[in-house]
Amino acid sequence: MFILENVPLSSYSTMRLGGTASYLTEINNRSEVAEAVAWAEERGLPIIMIGGGSNIIWNDDGFPGLVIVNKITGFETYAEDEENLYVTIGAGENWDQVVARTVEMGYTGIEPLSLIPGTAGATPIQNVGAYGREIKDVLTTVEAYDCAEKKLVNIPVSDCAFAYRTSRFRTTDKGRFLITAITIHLFKGSPQPPFYEALRKYFAEHQITTYGSQAVRDTVIAIRSSKLPDPAIVANNGSFFYNPIIREDQLTPILTDHPTVVYWPLDDGRVKVSAAWLLDQAGFKDYHDAETGMATWPAQPLVLVNEKATTTADLLKFKQKIVDTVHTKFGVTLEQEPELI
Ligand SMILES: Cc1cc2nc3c(=O)[nH]c(=O)nc-3n(C[C@H](O)[C@H](O)[C@H](O)COP(=O)(O)OP(=O)(O)OC[C@H]3O[C@@H](n4cnc5c(N)ncnc54)[C@H](O)[C@@H]3O)c2cc1C
Repeated sequence: MFILENVPLSSYSTMRLGGTASYLTEINNRSEVAEAVAWAEERGLPIIMIGGGSNIIWNDDGFPGLVIVNKITGFETYAEDEENLYVTIGAGENWDQVVARTVEMGYTGIEPLSLIPGTAGATPIQNVGAYGREIKDVLTTVEAYDCAEKKLVNIPVSDCAFAYRTSRFRTTDKGRFLITAITIHLFKGSPQPPFYEALRKYFAEHQITTYGSQAVRDTVIAIRSSKLPDPAIVANNGSFFYNPIIREDQLTPILTDHPTVVYWPLDDGRVKVSAAWLLDQAGFKDYHDAETGMATWPAQPLVLVNEKATTTADLLKFKQKIVDTVHTKFGVTLEQEPELI
């Protein structure tokens, strides 16, 4: 295990901002996880495990402990029968490459989650989701180093407290489990309709009538590429705000003034409102903020991009401007999706 000192964290966030980490190490196997944790504990330092930094914003003050970058690889398959495949994936594997591999093998399950940046091990943290699929729908087990029990544990999907963009790993047990691998359950063959609305629309427009997992993956990639910036080129963290969930009586006045409001009714009687629509209507479409150097992405206002910002304080100032404007106009409070550390 090789430990670096005073490492600039801007290279470990796709927003490319933040101070320095006191210490940083890359781990490549399970035993190095325990070793890194013990090293930090001996020195009384806090730890954090990260993957690709696509959902992290680092404070300007930096991180006063050990950042553990997960690089554990692995792709082990177990075919139960001709239909069912289980894949155990090392937490440090690039998620989109995992999706590509399973699609090439002729399996369906994770193709709607194509092109989501980051690592496989981070997918359970916020229960990543896109185009009608969430990781909880295919996940069977999370393997993790339990910092409380000091051992590797296997956590079944039913014990992960998954919900919209969250899990126990982000809430009650934040920081306790360092994920080393995930196991997912896939099926041989083609995905079954009904498909998510945006996919249906694209299929119709492009006369696509055979819906294999490769066709779904290609469609998701085409749609995402037209709407979202590539974090390798443009500094961003994807969607910056959750779609706010509000009561129906809160929606009524918005609906009266703005009949075109985009929302989705939920089973519990509440509604999920499109945060992109709120930003758009609040005047943040293709918005370039001279004061902070931040902007919104022209094709998707929910994506905040770092054009010229030099500090996380700039980003947070811009975020607050959006939150305040949306609240004044609609009475809805936007919550930030990427984690500020
Ligand atoms: C352009 C763009 C598009 C995006 N689209 C989507 C989308 O459609 N849907 C969606 O849900 N998300 C999306 N995201 C957000 C992001 O890609 C996901 O949250 C992704 O899973 C983060 O992976 P990562 O490896 O970069 O995690 P990081 O950003 O490194 O970490 C995120 C969090 O997970 C924790 N973590 C990471 N790895 C581990 C581990 N092995 N063990 C324990 N904790 C860990 C970190 O401590 C941190 O709290 C998008 C981001 C971008 C930039």
